[in-house]
Amino acid sequence: MTKGLVVILSGASSVGKGDIRDLLLQDKDLKLFYSISETTRPQRPNEVDGKDYYFVTHKEFAESVRNKELLEYTEFNGYYYGTPKQQVEFLQSKGKNVLIEVEAQGVGPIKLNMPDSLAFFVMPENLEQLEKQINELYKDDQASAQRRINKAKMDMELAPLFNNIVSNEDAKKAAAQIKEVILNELKKRK
Ligand code: 5GP
Repeated sequence: MTKGLVVILSGASSVGKGDIRDLLLQDKDLKLFYSISETTRPQRPNEVDGKDYYFVTHKEFAESVRNKELLEYTEFNGYYYGTPKQQVEFLQSKGKNVLIEVEAQGVGPIKLNMPDSLAFFVMPENLEQLEKQINELYKDDQASAQRRINKAKMDMELAPLFNNIVSNEDAKKAAAQIKEVILNELKKRK
């Protein structure tokens, strides 16, 4: 059986990766399964444990790190986020294509472990627009908004390292662009 393709979706915080991710996951042609991350961030009201994230305690996260259960992990805005290794490897071994969504620093370690994975970086239309969006989303927590803006700027500096950069002027267009690259890659691997 051909091993599944690992697709990494990255980009600055609040750039709209989520919308693109959902469009890709809904696309039946791509047969993508979502890699659910572990995080110590508190669950938001609209989020489902075991679907959006595995919400874990600091102690549980440290245990996963100690047991080398994570493909990569990072600290972001005071919380930890990590990609469970076994889940990705299991799906891949069953021939399933896997979608991993991470901030930019997470991409390097995944690429090192899985050199034939395909990484996409989502760019905002422009930085001012992104700052406005982050300030709006996190208007109740200015410090968090500022940290996300700083992180977005740092992430964008890593963009040139990616082979596939897509602009998120329109989530549907960005998803279509990503889909084309994935389908081409899948064709090559057959
Ligand atoms: P949020 O708190 O908004 O859900 O996520 C914050 C950032 O963490 C986003 O940029 C998201 O892509 C990233 N993220 C989510 N899961 C992981 C993960 O497992 N590893 C890494 N490196 N970043 C992640």
